[in-house]
Amino acid sequence: MTLAKRIEEISLVVRGGNKCAYQLMLDSMKSEDRKALETAWQQNISRRIILRSLRSEGYKTSNESITNHQTGNCKCPKN
Ligand SMILES: [Zn+2]
Repeated sequence: MTLAKRIEEISLVVRGGNKCAYQLMLDSMKSEDRKALETAWQQNISRRIILRSLRSEGYKTSNESITNHQTGNCKCPKN
């Protein structure tokens, strides 16, 4: 990662406020990747595969942050 990209990424996290790490990652994803991820969840592709694919593409997320987000146990605003 370049310094410019790192600064951008950390700024996003610092300014993220009430969004969790998983949501911030979603926000930062290329739209085609986000679409692919949505499709993968809908198709019930195993989380292990999704997680590994995300990491291979350079997205930083963890099993824990996915679980917390999906169960509403994260700091995202709840409706
Ligand atoms: Zn969340």
